[in-house]
Amino acid sequence: MIILKLGGSILTKKDSSKPKINFKNLNRVTIEIKDFLNDYDLKNNGLIIIHGAGSFGHPYAKKYKIGEPFPDKEYPKKRIGFSIVHNSVNKFNGVISNCFIENNIPIVPIPPSSIIKTSHKRVSYFNLDLIEAYISQGFLPILYGDVVLDDKLKMAVVSGDQILSYLAKNLKFEKVILATDVDGVFNRNPKLYNDAKLIKVLNSFEDLDGFDSTTSVDVTGGMFGKIQELFELADLGIESMIINAQTPNLIKNALEGVEVKGTLIKSKI
Ligand code: ADP
Repeated sequence: MIILKLGGSILTKKDSSKPKINFKNLNRVTIEIKDFLNDYDLKNNGLIIIHGAGSFGHPYAKKYKIGEPFPDKEYPKKRIGFSIVHNSVNKFNGVISNCFIENNIPIVPIPPSSIIKTSHKRVSYFNLDLIEAYISQGFLPILYGDVVLDDKLKMAVVSGDQILSYLAKNLKFEKVILATDVDGVFNRNPKLYNDAKLIKVLNSFEDLDGFDSTTSVDVTGGMFGKIQELFELADLGIESMIINAQTPNLIKNALEGVEVKGTLIKSKI
């Protein structure tokens, strides 16, 4: 089974204050996945896709401060904020789903707000039965960064990266691939430092020097949040790979098991 996360940074113009899709990337990435599926038995092997929220989620989640504690009197405003964030990421998912269906890929979108709850922003409930049932019938489930109910904070944002990490821990995966808009993890943010060096194999935070953690737009921790999730997987013996989806054919090759440029987050077992 393979789990593939498509970063919000490749499918949207992430730093836009208004939701904006990067159709060029979306179309190319969908075709790469379609080409891979020509020789892949979905029913017997399984594939799950998760996409980030990008500019469809972060600006609204920030505006309504989803995930921050609030007094009960603010509930009406928070609830509508929750609805707005969900509606926005759901619309984004609709566009992605359309593109997959046009390419004859049997996707089934599963909104995380319908099957996940968190406690202090960490997943505490996840209806995996439904996902397994869809996979066993040859569907390709698609999940995405979304808003969810939180036992402690009332509501929170759950990132695509956390969903990926939960699924990888709880279902059996042979490959965990994260596609983003940079070649992998660098010792410093490659978008800010020209001398940033790609780390091909990442064992621990000590491999990162002066790590500049996140993009300013990401409410769920950017690259730093991603690595934290992936180290949790590494502790359990699950390896993952961060690759650049801007580079044509990298997703297809990674899915096919061809060695590609990127960062391997090494298993610690
Ligand atoms: P996605 O939306 O694809 O999940 P994120 O925006 O969360 O991706 O994280 C990718 C971004 O992290 C890159 O665009 C890059 O600007 C930023 N970043 C910050 N520090 C680093 C680093 N040390 N190595 C790689 N990327 C980094």
